[in-house]
Amino acid sequence: MFTQPSLPKSSLQFYPAIALLGAAAIFLIDTFAPFNIAIAVMYVAVIMISANFLSREGLLAISAICIFLTVSSFFIVHSDDFESGAMVRCLISLSAILVTTFLALKNNQATLNLRDQAALLDLTHDAIYVRDTRDVIAYWNAGAEELYGWTRGEAIGRPAIELLKSRFPMPLKDITKELAAADRWQGEITHVKRNGTEVIVASRWSQQRDDNGRPIATMVTNNDITEQKHAEDALHKAQAELAHVTRLTTLGELTASIAHEVNQPLAAVVTNGEAALRWLQRDVPDLKEVQDSLERMITNGRRASDVIARLRALTRKTDLIRAPVDVNELLDDVLLLVDRELAAKNVALNLSLAKAPLPVLGDRVQLQQAIINLAVNAVQAMMTVVDRPRELRISTRVQPSDPPERTVVVEVTDNGPGIDPAAINKLFTAFYTTKSEGMGMGLSICRSIVESHGGKIIASSEVGEGATFSVHLPMKEEEKA
Ligand code: ADP
Repeated sequence: MFTQPSLPKSSLQFYPAIALLGAAAIFLIDTFAPFNIAIAVMYVAVIMISANFLSREGLLAISAICIFLTVSSFFIVHSDDFESGAMVRCLISLSAILVTTFLALKNNQATLNLRDQAALLDLTHDAIYVRDTRDVIAYWNAGAEELYGWTRGEAIGRPAIELLKSRFPMPLKDITKELAAADRWQGEITHVKRNGTEVIVASRWSQQRDDNGRPIATMVTNNDITEQKHAEDALHKAQAELAHVTRLTTLGELTASIAHEVNQPLAAVVTNGEAALRWLQRDVPDLKEVQDSLERMITNGRRASDVIARLRALTRKTDLIRAPVDVNELLDDVLLLVDRELAAKNVALNLSLAKAPLPVLGDRVQLQQAIINLAVNAVQAMMTVVDRPRELRISTRVQPSDPPERTVVVEVTDNGPGIDPAAINKLFTAFYTTKSEGMGMGLSICRSIVESHGGKIIASSEVGEGATFSVHLPMKEEEKA
């Protein structure tokens, strides 16, 4: 596992003293105590302790001193008789010192390499940390110190989720499952900094495994996207406000038609009510006719309230709701609101809907708004047509696209004057309008609605022949059991 390759400063400061005292003690025992064992082997401990705080040169120097002390003790004690046992003990001690020095140098080099690599991670602006399998932080780079305000010393050894008060976009057990399966996970997480403020990060996790494939740690790389998120939220809010305003404007253009849709059933309620009264006032009341009249009253009353309910849904200011919507069903609602307008403007409706349901995932109100807007534009464009019947064609179909995905296509076609090829690229730009009272926001809003549903909108036209606007939306495929 990649852990921070440095020792706590507090323990480091005692090491030189321990090494010095150790070397002195070993020398004294080796020289003056009457033991017939290789005491000088203990210099190995001095070298191992020194390896923690000395450079390569320092370590070589300490090793040389230990060798010098071992040989000195040998000469002091055995200057008059070079006994073979003592000589062997001395040689064993010297080889132990040399081997340990070699290993310590090698180990120090490995640590230095690791330290260099860790220093590289400090250069990045990303916050990087490593958590072991118990979620305890083992590594914490400079970027993490800067982002969260916790220093390396404070963070290492603490549970990451607890320290950062992490809020995940999905249950943690699902994240852990995904990480275990793919060795990777990424998503947006909300953390709390040391100063108590929240930070939203784009987080990428990579699982580290040992030689046997067992998970040993997770490296986490986080980027601060708080500002970007806030800007996106503000943009969505502004777009929703704008969509709401233009929705009201479009509905304003349909007022006469809508009023008729409500008035007609209300008038029918009154007429049927009066008829029912007349049937009752007869000498022999005809209860069958009364019942029929009352049933018609109920049907018409329901129709009026249905229109009002749909209107209220369209005018209400709601947050974006994503739910499965059948595009054919959605068109029924749209037509209910524009039917009258078509009749009033002498426009024939040619409807060609796909037989099967066309499920998409989206916001019903917004998608209705987009299609109403296309229909109203088409009707307005056809107002200049006087030499032929005006015709609005609305069709829906499923189009195979990149497998396994399919696309739902809604086409709104008119036989108006068409669109000037020079203008076709500007249509979807905000405030582009050729109408004296136009706002030029309709198509721009249509495009942002369709794109926010993962789709696209395309305009095509033959000048003099009319225009077609096709809306392509990703189909919501049935979930396979
Ligand atoms: P507005 O309706 O307020 O002008 P839109 O964004 O809905 O705003 O439309 C922008 C322009 O696109 C219109 O002014 C018109 O020139 C052109 N346009 C839209 N639909 C059609 C159509 N069906 N036929 C011809 N021109 C169209």
